[in-house]
Amino acid sequence: MHVRPFKCDVAGCSLTTGFPYKKDLKRHQRDKHTDEGGAYYCPYSWCNYSRPQREQNGRKGMRHDNYMRHMKKVHYGFGQWPRETE
Ligand SMILES: [Zn+2]
Ligand SMILES: [Zn+2]
Repeated sequence: MHVRPFKCDVAGCSLTTGFPYKKDLKRHQRDKHTDEGGAYYCPYSWCNYSRPQREQNGRKGMRHDNYMRHMKKVHYGFGQWPRETE
């Protein structure tokens, strides 16, 4: 018998079964929820995290902290805005 005491309590999550280990729940929440529900989109239109690309996949924007992390990781630094010529 499997015990799955760790349930996801994120609003709107369709998962009902829970996880046997806390790390599994953490991984689920990281995969499914960390970049959802925010109002931030990547300003680079070709990027998967830009508004058109996200909406095409039925996804919402990033939360602010994820947006900052995304810009840092993918676009080499927050505050560096795209140029028209790029
Ligand atoms: Zn969930
Ligand atoms: Zn981006």
